[in-house]
Amino acid sequence: MFQQQEVSDAIIHRLHAMPKVEIHVHLEGATSPDTIWDMAQRNGVDLPAASREAWHEFYAFSDFAHFIETYILATSAMRTPEDFEQMVRDFAQRQAAQNIRYSEAYISPQFHLDAGISQGDLLDAFGAGADSGWREHGSKVRFIADISRQTDMHLHDVLPFALAGYERDGLVVGIGLGGIEDAYPPERFAPIFSEARQGGLHTVAHAGETAGPESVWGALQVLGAERVGHGIRSLEDPELIAHLRDNRIPLEVSPNSNYCTKVIPVDEPHPIRALVDAGVYVTVNSDDPPMFSTDLNNEYVTLARQGFSFEELWQLNLDTLEATFLPEDEKAVLREEWTAFADRT
Ligand SMILES: [Zn+2]
Repeated sequence: MFQQQEVSDAIIHRLHAMPKVEIHVHLEGATSPDTIWDMAQRNGVDLPAASREAWHEFYAFSDFAHFIETYILATSAMRTPEDFEQMVRDFAQRQAAQNIRYSEAYISPQFHLDAGISQGDLLDAFGAGADSGWREHGSKVRFIADISRQTDMHLHDVLPFALAGYERDGLVVGIGLGGIEDAYPPERFAPIFSEARQGGLHTVAHAGETAGPESVWGALQVLGAERVGHGIRSLEDPELIAHLRDNRIPLEVSPNSNYCTKVIPVDEPHPIRALVDAGVYVTVNSDDPPMFSTDLNNEYVTLARQGFSFEELWQLNLDTLEATFLPEDEKAVLREEWTAFADRT
């Protein structure tokens, strides 16, 4: 086990207090196991667990495939417009409690459409949840419609969903690619990404998490991804690292996620240090917080324990703000708030 550093309460407090944004967090994966259990009971969905406690045990992942299996099971419990509205409202409340002003949340529409909810009802529910989250908690939520690589189910309904969401005052800001990375290369999704871009959507893709550098090259060159989810295995290819650095392509890094899915051994420091030292554009995120017993604050504290100074973490926080897909005028408002915080503390 590598040596963790002591972090003072003052630093932990400051990391909590600083205004933040988050750009890689899955709405479904951010929903607590208890809420999932309650939804499943309410909706008559059979989870393969005999009790609430047994369901909690599903969240101790043996590997990445087990994590995906649990994620899909959890998603199967979500059925009604009320479920989705409540999930977004609760999400905004938890983000606000961490001083997160703005989130770009991934959603997996393929599973929800397959369970029978219509595109319009789903967008209404996400919109209503985001409205009340903003009104009641002052934390703004926008969405990225994430395609799951491993399933054909409703694959061609994701883009129409995302475009219809974009038309609703930018409720949906982009399209993404997630799920099982090995054995599902990006080529078949290229036409969808190209059409999404023409329709005004941003594009992102998970890559370089469980697969190697060729997957990140694919996300960039085949899909034209503007940001890369995880991307940590880019370190295996110096040419790719130079490309990411020179083109200022943000990586959405989530340290505790990588430890929990065993992509990185728990007794090793996270490769984010090597990425930062190589000059790569890095952002900090929680991915699926209750599934990985974390939240965004804890991600920053984790990095402080691995030797990052407050100044370095503040810079990562500033960089994460700049990597959002917010319009320039909204970004400028948040930038002022960030500056005011820095001046005050
Ligand atoms: Zn993710």
